Amino acid sequence: MTGRFAPSPSGDLHVGNLRTALLAWLCARSTGRSFVLRVEDLDRVREGAEQRQLDDLAAIGLDWDGPVVRQSERARLYDAALASLAGRGLVFECFCTRREILDAPSAPHAPPGAYPGTCRDLTEAERDERRRDRPAALRLRAEVSTFTVDDELHGAFSGVVDDVVLRRGDGAVAYNLAVVVDDAQQGIDQVVRGDDLLSSAPRQAYLATLLGATPPTYVHVPLALNSAGQRLAKRDGAVSRSELEARGVDVLALIAASLGLEGSTPHELLRTFDVAAIPRAPWIFDPERT
Ligand code: GLU
Repeated sequence: MTGRFAPSPSGDLHVGNLRTALLAWLCARSTGRSFVLRVEDLDRVREGAEQRQLDDLAAIGLDWDGPVVRQSERARLYDAALASLAGRGLVFECFCTRREILDAPSAPHAPPGAYPGTCRDLTEAERDERRRDRPAALRLRAEVSTFTVDDELHGAFSGVVDDVVLRRGDGAVAYNLAVVVDDAQQGIDQVVRGDDLLSSAPRQAYLATLLGATPPTYVHVPLALNSAGQRLAKRDGAVSRSELEARGVDVLALIAASLGLEGSTPHELLRTFDVAAIPRAPWIFDPERT
């Protein structure tokens, strides 16, 4: 049994990201699970960000089991998963631009925003023709349109499954494939992350079943918002650990207070932690008032 935190090294973690990391650690440790870190560095990597993120996680007292795993080192696993899906006829080439997808009439019964199916059934000749315009992305030939996941805060959550991109036209492995392959390969059975990803969970869980894995239990936790109700971001002021510490703020204490937990180390927080009692509302964080 294993839980994880999977940051993208696109910048510094802000206090909301650190809160999600702490919650992932608490959910794993309170249930006797191992806890692993996975760096999701397939794109948008910022120089030096990974090390600063790991330092920040360690500085608030989190520990993890085994070596840090990096997606950039796991191309062979993603290729093998793609080959397995393709071998079963579950992959098709897609030549659509974003604009074409938005402009296409949606498929009957397809929810808004779902891939309209434009390239699903092209003939070989049509594919040859389209290949001259641009390199193909690879999409999953989804055989369901909804899937239900178990979430400890949201209950049984049903959401859209469409023909998700597995490999982008530029050859990069898509996030949805990498995350599912990694969670399955690393034996992750509990996924704790921000609730901005709740709507992605059904398609990821469905993809997991196609790859022969049991979908994990999810805990999608509320995000941190600024005082205007928008997602917390760097531009909101002092939001990173180093900025807050420079102002004399104890970051772990600040996060613990937002969760109604008592203690001065993550291990002490475990004593009062209860998954079911995680606050359901977003955490409003105003650096000017901290
Ligand atoms: N790497 C993603 C992010 O930082 C999280 C993916 C996940 O937890 O499944 O937003």
